[in-house]
Amino acid sequence: MNSVTSKQPEKLNDTVTELDALVIGAGFAGLYQLHCLRDRIGLSVKVVEAGDDLGGTWYWNRYPGARCDSESHSYCYFFSKELYEEWEWSERYPGPPEILRYLNHVANKFDLRRDIQFGTRVRSAHYDAADNRWLVAAGSGQCFRATYLITAVGCISSANVPDIPGLDSFKGKWYHTGQWPPQGVDFTGKRVGQIGTGSTGIQAAPVIAQSAKRLTVFQRTANYSVPARNAPLSDEFKQYIREHHDEIEEIVESTPNGHPFRISETKVFDLSPEERQKVYKAAWEKGGLQFRAAFQDLLTNKAANDTATEFLKNKIREIVKDRQTAEDLADIDHPYAGKRPPIDTNYFETFNRENVTLINLRKDPIERITPTGIKTRDHNYDLDIIVFATGFDALTGTLLRIDIRGRDGLSLRDVWKAGPRTYLGLQVPGFPNMFTVTGPGSPSVLCNMPVAIEQHVEWITECIAYMRDNGIESCEAATEATEKWVEHVNEAANATLLPTVQHSWYLGANVPGKPRVFMPYAGGMTRYRAICNDVAAKGYEGFVLARRGQDADAKRETALNDFEAAANISTPGV
Ligand code: NAP
Repeated sequence: MNSVTSKQPEKLNDTVTELDALVIGAGFAGLYQLHCLRDRIGLSVKVVEAGDDLGGTWYWNRYPGARCDSESHSYCYFFSKELYEEWEWSERYPGPPEILRYLNHVANKFDLRRDIQFGTRVRSAHYDAADNRWLVAAGSGQCFRATYLITAVGCISSANVPDIPGLDSFKGKWYHTGQWPPQGVDFTGKRVGQIGTGSTGIQAAPVIAQSAKRLTVFQRTANYSVPARNAPLSDEFKQYIREHHDEIEEIVESTPNGHPFRISETKVFDLSPEERQKVYKAAWEKGGLQFRAAFQDLLTNKAANDTATEFLKNKIREIVKDRQTAEDLADIDHPYAGKRPPIDTNYFETFNRENVTLINLRKDPIERITPTGIKTRDHNYDLDIIVFATGFDALTGTLLRIDIRGRDGLSLRDVWKAGPRTYLGLQVPGFPNMFTVTGPGSPSVLCNMPVAIEQHVEWITECIAYMRDNGIESCEAATEATEKWVEHVNEAANATLLPTVQHSWYLGANVPGKPRVFMPYAGGMTRYRAICNDVAAKGYEGFVLARRGQDADAKRETALNDFEAAANISTPGV
């Protein structure tokens, strides 16, 4: 039994809030989970959120140029047709202010705020087997006790600030894009250094360059990007959105990535080189993530992918005037979309500005940060501001920052030491009644997030409703099913080019010391949805559903022993 529940219950009783379900996080996932559990199945629910307001990703990521890469009419909830039809998006891709307005509208419409507690960062969540309850402690000293613990913490919510020596000595200001100050940052007249050229850096650089005196972009790995071609939505398109909820929903639910367009059925080598060029040109003009959908086999056939990389590298050389800069930007070492493909507004064009310089860190690596800027091996760059567009400890980072302990004090940090292992990305053996919305092992970041979130939230809600209707007290992923699922996640990844990119955050490679495991499920959202439905239809196959009493204890005991044997871990002492 863990220390919190065994040693301190009396002391904690005074301040413990008793609930059926506690949800961590008030982004897209947490808001909808609250609505489903409270308003559809009548549980007492609270959402706790570290930020001072709702929005999740969009609360924290307010860096210059931030904009969603999913098209607005699909980056939203589909569960309420009325909501879908009454909300009007203004642009092809929404920015944080518009997404936050939308989420506030949702919160007001469904009266969600009254059950959300902001400014409350969860420190620990310990399962008490005697009570079959989770005891959750927040930084504020407050405690919550709930039967169901649902983590809706987001996949990319733990900022990764690289450990570059000397950062503490820097006399200027520095910011990570994922923890951007809500009041913004004034770059006027400043010498700015930006580290990182992923989706975020590619969005931020063109906007920072407009007001900064000088922008120096430090690039370690060159990256592809396709123009987003953002624009205001026409009245005709707005009307189309209002009138086609069902059709759009059908498309997002039947495509592997949950976007509102279908992937072409044509394979790259079905066409002649000339015909292929036409397809790529049209996709480039159309812009956005649709480029990835131009051919069916771009992500599975390296030779096919090479034709896209050639097209995209030539575009960089066409756009960027300085030859050396163009070569450094086009010196890309991975397949197109092998890492998450960025989309941009004037990214490559930005390097034609007189006040912007690209530094190729592969040739001249960063040595340290100094009081006055960044020192690379060969140069010193004087800076007033450093922007870290250096990404996230994705998919597991936020969960592992919480001290999560399951049965008998089993620590999630220990269980995931060699990488995350889940059943369907929804549960971990040894952690009964804990559900992870878009957890590792589910499509999550490989899918348009709200589509993945809706499916998970609804599945979890139905599972809990089923438990209540059938007198089931605890639901826990079985070890064998988990092992099989992990195997399947690997198989699905290995059928694509994705795991071939060694420096991808999908593999955890961007965080020193993080185990290299391909974390999201690459088998496609459509297939994944069908698997989850099938599991539910078979009475939650692969989960141990336990009723009160002897039978339940025996089942749990077996599940835990199997799990420990399979994962070769010992239960930590407490
Ligand atoms: P990212 O893709 O992980 O990119 C981080 C960048 O920082 C990379 O260029 C990386 O270089 C560089 N970097 C990291 N540590 C470094 C170091 N010590 N020295 C030099 N360079 C370093 O992070 P991100 O751009 O924030 O994007 C993360 C994810 O967020 C995206 O893939 C996407 O899923 C999501 N996102 C979505 C949107 C949207 O929808 N609008 C926008 C932004 C982000 P290496 O490649 O060499 O590691």
